[in-house]
Amino acid sequence: MKPRILTNPQEVLDTADKCDVCFVSMVDTHGMPYMVPMNFGLKDGIIYLHSAQTGRKIDILKTNPNVCVGFTNDHKLRWQNEDVACSYSMKYRSIRAYGTVRFIENEQQKIDALNIIMHKYTGKEFGYNAPSIREVLCWCVDVNKWEGKVYGY
Ligand SMILES: Cc1cc2nc3c(=O)[nH]c(=O)nc-3n(C[C@H](O)[C@H](O)[C@H](O)COP(=O)(O)OP(=O)(O)OC[C@H]3O[C@@H](n4cnc5c(N)ncnc54)[C@H](O)[C@@H]3O)c2cc1C
Repeated sequence: MKPRILTNPQEVLDTADKCDVCFVSMVDTHGMPYMVPMNFGLKDGIIYLHSAQTGRKIDILKTNPNVCVGFTNDHKLRWQNEDVACSYSMKYRSIRAYGTVRFIENEQQKIDALNIIMHKYTGKEFGYNAPSIREVLCWCVDVNKWEGKVYGY
Protein backbone atom coordinates (compact mmCIF):
# COMPACT_ATOMS: atom_id res chain seq x y z
CA MET A 1 0.00 0.00 0.00
CA LYS A 2 1.44 3.35 -1.04
CA PRO A 3 1.12 6.55 0.99
CA ARG A 4 -0.94 9.32 -0.56
CA ILE A 5 0.46 12.86 -0.62
CA LEU A 6 -2.31 15.36 -0.01
CA THR A 7 -2.57 18.01 -2.70
CA ASN A 8 -5.97 19.44 -1.83
CA PRO A 9 -5.35 22.38 0.57
CA GLN A 10 -8.78 22.00 2.20
CA GLU A 11 -8.16 18.29 2.90
CA VAL A 12 -4.85 19.24 4.51
CA LEU A 13 -6.51 21.81 6.80
CA ASP A 14 -9.46 19.53 7.64
CA THR A 15 -7.09 16.68 8.52
CA ALA A 16 -5.03 18.94 10.80
CA ASP A 17 -8.17 20.28 12.46
CA LYS A 18 -9.37 16.76 13.30
CA CYS A 19 -6.26 16.18 15.44
CA ASP A 20 -6.49 16.69 19.22
CA VAL A 21 -2.93 17.83 19.70
CA CYS A 22 -0.18 19.42 17.65
CA PHE A 23 3.57 19.11 18.15
CA VAL A 24 5.34 22.47 17.96
CA SER A 25 9.04 22.11 17.09
CA MET A 26 11.55 24.91 17.34
CA VAL A 27 15.32 25.44 17.39
CA ASP A 28 17.17 27.26 20.16
CA THR A 29 20.10 29.66 19.85
CA HIS A 30 22.56 26.73 20.10
CA GLY A 31 20.89 25.03 17.14
CA MET A 32 19.31 22.42 19.42
CA PRO A 33 15.78 21.16 18.69
CA TYR A 34 12.92 21.44 21.22
CA MET A 35 9.34 20.23 20.87
CA VAL A 36 6.16 20.66 22.91
CA PRO A 37 2.80 18.95 22.40
CA MET A 38 0.03 21.56 22.59
CA ASN A 39 -3.68 22.01 22.16
CA PHE A 40 -4.56 24.33 19.32
CA GLY A 41 -7.22 25.99 17.20
CA LEU A 42 -7.18 26.44 13.45
CA LYS A 43 -8.91 29.16 11.48
CA ASP A 44 -8.29 30.45 7.95
CA GLY A 45 -5.04 28.48 7.79
CA ILE A 46 -3.64 30.11 10.98
CA ILE A 47 -2.78 27.93 14.00
CA TYR A 48 -3.79 29.44 17.38
CA LEU A 49 -2.07 28.45 20.63
CA HIS A 50 -2.05 29.56 24.25
CA SER A 51 0.36 29.10 27.12
CA ALA A 52 1.92 30.65 30.19
CA GLN A 53 3.91 33.84 29.57
CA THR A 54 7.19 32.16 30.52
CA GLY A 55 9.02 28.88 30.02
CA ARG A 56 11.59 27.33 27.78
CA LYS A 57 9.48 27.32 24.60
CA ILE A 58 8.70 31.02 24.98
CA ASP A 59 12.39 31.87 25.58
CA ILE A 60 13.24 30.02 22.38
CA LEU A 61 10.40 31.46 20.30
CA LYS A 62 11.32 35.00 21.30
CA THR A 63 14.77 34.48 19.80
CA ASN A 64 13.75 32.24 16.90
CA PRO A 65 10.06 32.33 15.93
CA ASN A 66 10.40 29.73 13.16
CA VAL A 67 8.46 26.53 13.85
CA CYS A 68 7.49 23.26 12.26
CA VAL A 69 4.17 21.99 13.62
CA GLY A 70 3.14 18.33 13.33
CA PHE A 71 -0.34 16.78 13.56
CA THR A 72 -1.29 13.08 13.29
CA ASN A 73 -4.42 11.02 13.77
CA ASP A 74 -6.29 7.86 12.77
CA HIS A 75 -3.39 5.64 13.91
CA LYS A 76 -4.28 2.00 13.28
CA LEU A 77 -2.03 -1.03 13.23
CA ARG A 78 -2.40 -3.20 10.11
CA TRP A 79 -0.70 -6.36 8.88
CA GLN A 80 -0.84 -8.78 5.99
CA ASN A 81 0.33 -11.80 7.98
CA GLU A 82 0.18 -11.57 11.76
CA ASP A 83 3.21 -13.91 12.10
CA VAL A 84 5.46 -11.78 9.88
CA ALA A 85 6.90 -8.70 11.56
CA CYS A 86 7.75 -6.99 8.26
CA SER A 87 4.14 -7.17 7.11
CA TYR A 88 3.02 -4.84 9.92
CA SER A 89 2.58 -1.12 9.41
CA MET A 90 0.45 1.67 10.77
CA LYS A 91 -2.29 3.55 9.01
CA TYR A 92 -2.16 7.28 9.67
CA ARG A 93 -2.96 10.78 8.56
CA SER A 94 -0.08 13.21 9.03
CA ILE A 95 0.19 16.95 8.46
CA ARG A 96 3.11 19.36 8.79
CA ALA A 97 3.02 23.15 8.83
CA TYR A 98 6.04 25.43 8.56
CA GLY A 99 5.66 28.99 9.75
CA THR A 100 6.48 31.84 12.08
CA VAL A 101 5.12 32.52 15.56
CA ARG A 102 3.40 35.84 16.24
CA PHE A 103 2.50 36.82 19.82
CA ILE A 104 -0.97 38.35 20.15
CA GLU A 105 -1.03 41.53 22.29
CA ASN A 106 -4.47 43.01 21.60
CA GLU A 107 -7.04 42.00 24.27
CA GLN A 108 -9.92 41.38 21.87
CA GLN A 109 -7.65 39.40 19.55
CA LYS A 110 -6.57 37.27 22.55
CA ILE A 111 -10.22 36.54 23.35
CA ASP A 112 -10.85 35.63 19.71
CA ALA A 113 -7.82 33.29 19.75
CA LEU A 114 -8.98 31.61 22.99
CA ASN A 115 -12.46 31.16 21.55
CA ILE A 116 -11.05 29.55 18.40
CA ILE A 117 -9.20 27.05 20.63
CA MET A 118 -12.11 26.48 23.02
CA HIS A 119 -14.62 26.09 20.20
CA LYS A 120 -12.53 23.32 18.65
CA TYR A 121 -12.66 21.24 21.84
CA THR A 122 -16.06 22.13 23.27
CA GLY A 123 -18.14 23.61 20.45
CA LYS A 124 -18.92 26.49 22.86
CA GLU A 125 -18.13 30.22 23.21
CA PHE A 126 -16.83 31.52 26.56
CA GLY A 127 -16.40 34.83 28.36
CA TYR A 128 -13.06 35.63 30.04
CA ASN A 129 -12.23 37.93 32.92
CA ALA A 130 -9.60 40.65 32.50
CA PRO A 131 -6.92 39.11 34.81
CA SER A 132 -7.09 35.77 32.98
CA ILE A 133 -6.68 37.52 29.65
CA ARG A 134 -3.71 39.50 30.99
CA GLU A 135 -2.01 36.38 32.36
CA VAL A 136 -2.39 34.09 29.37
CA LEU A 137 -0.05 34.30 26.42
CA CYS A 138 -1.83 33.82 23.10
CA TRP A 139 0.13 33.22 19.97
CA CYS A 140 -0.42 32.04 16.48
CA VAL A 141 1.55 30.52 13.66
CA ASP A 142 1.39 32.22 10.28
CA VAL A 143 1.92 29.21 8.07
CA ASN A 144 3.89 29.53 4.86
CA LYS A 145 3.83 25.85 3.87
CA TRP A 146 1.50 22.93 4.60
CA GLU A 147 2.27 19.28 3.79
CA GLY A 148 0.07 16.22 4.15
CA LYS A 149 0.51 12.49 3.84
CA VAL A 150 -1.99 9.69 4.39
CA TYR A 151 -1.18 6.01 4.65
CA GLY A 152 -3.73 3.22 4.58
CA TYR A 153 -6.88 5.33 4.05
C1 LIG B 1 -1.79 16.68 25.15
C2 LIG B 1 -1.04 17.90 25.64
C3 LIG B 1 -1.57 19.17 25.43
C4 LIG B 1 -0.89 20.29 25.89
N1 LIG B 1 -1.40 21.54 25.62
C5 LIG B 1 -0.72 22.62 26.00
C6 LIG B 1 -1.17 23.94 25.66
O1 LIG B 1 -2.18 24.14 24.97
N2 LIG B 1 -0.43 25.00 26.10
C7 LIG B 1 0.72 24.82 26.84
O2 LIG B 1 1.35 25.82 27.19
N3 LIG B 1 1.16 23.61 27.16
C8 LIG B 1 0.48 22.49 26.76
N4 LIG B 1 0.95 21.25 27.07
C9 LIG B 1 2.18 21.14 27.88
C10 LIG B 1 3.41 21.40 26.98
O3 LIG B 1 3.69 20.26 26.20
C11 LIG B 1 4.64 21.81 27.78
O4 LIG B 1 4.94 20.79 28.72
C12 LIG B 1 4.42 23.11 28.53
O5 LIG B 1 3.88 24.08 27.65
C13 LIG B 1 5.70 23.62 29.15
O6 LIG B 1 6.63 23.88 28.12
P1 LIG B 1 7.88 24.83 28.40
O7 LIG B 1 8.75 24.82 27.20
O8 LIG B 1 7.38 26.16 28.87
O9 LIG B 1 8.61 24.02 29.50
P2 LIG B 1 9.16 24.51 30.92
O10 LIG B 1 8.02 24.67 31.87
O11 LIG B 1 10.10 25.64 30.73
O12 LIG B 1 9.86 23.16 31.30
C14 LIG B 1 11.21 23.01 31.51
C15 LIG B 1 11.62 21.60 31.22
O13 LIG B 1 10.59 20.64 31.48
C16 LIG B 1 10.63 19.61 30.51
N5 LIG B 1 9.37 19.59 29.74
C17 LIG B 1 8.53 20.62 29.47
N6 LIG B 1 7.48 20.22 28.74
C18 LIG B 1 7.66 18.91 28.51
C19 LIG B 1 6.89 17.91 27.82
N7 LIG B 1 5.73 18.21 27.19
N8 LIG B 1 7.37 16.66 27.80
C20 LIG B 1 8.53 16.34 28.42
N9 LIG B 1 9.30 17.23 29.09
C21 LIG B 1 8.87 18.49 29.14
C22 LIG B 1 11.81 19.90 29.61
O14 LIG B 1 12.93 19.27 30.14
C23 LIG B 1 11.94 21.40 29.74
O15 LIG B 1 13.22 21.84 29.43
C24 LIG B 1 0.32 20.12 26.61
C25 LIG B 1 0.86 18.86 26.81
C26 LIG B 1 0.20 17.76 26.31
C27 LIG B 1 0.82 16.38 26.50
